[in-house]
Amino acid sequence: MPLVGVLALQGDVREHVRALQRVDAQVATVRTVEQLDEIDALVIPGGESTAISHLLTTSGLRDVLARKLDEHLPVFGTCAGLILLSSHIADGRSDQWSFGALDVSVRRNGYGRQVASFEVPLAVDGVGEVPGVFIRAPRIDAIGEDVEVLASLDHGDGEHPVFVRQGSAWGCSFHPELTSSDAIHDLFVRSIST
Ligand code: GLN
Repeated sequence: MPLVGVLALQGDVREHVRALQRVDAQVATVRTVEQLDEIDALVIPGGESTAISHLLTTSGLRDVLARKLDEHLPVFGTCAGLILLSSHIADGRSDQWSFGALDVSVRRNGYGRQVASFEVPLAVDGVGEVPGVFIRAPRIDAIGEDVEVLASLDHGDGEHPVFVRQGSAWGCSFHPELTSSDAIHDLFVRSIST
């Protein structure tokens, strides 16, 4: 059975670990290069993208993970994790970097501070309806032609993708680990098990 890592530098690590365990995945937290070498897929949680990117650099994980992503390690970034996987960040810190594993342009806190958190039902391709929890979520403003959209949302500012996939890299603006539905974790785990 593949071993799914959860990047455990900052953010809602425990919630992802529990969701992955509920769909019967074998799970390990990842804080070191040695742990990163053991896993077959990685989840990058929501949290604070600037904090996670800083810790990726200081831990030495950044370069190793960049190489693994180039080699198509399956990866799923949620919220801040999506920002880290994106190819372009708007409203980021001036020195903010990202892996570019997903050809998407994201805007940090793009759903606006006045609606900083909200929950809406989302229709997800291949899954059906799931609760979408958005917390200071990044908005996907543009996607490359190789990016597949699995769910999108019109939150009063036109329709934007909220769940995307490009080869082995997946990302979503919302927090599937904070809801009662494990359908999205199940979809990811099944995609790496086949
Ligand atoms: N706004 C946060 C950031 O820019 C992401 C929020 C989240 O992950 N819930 O990192």
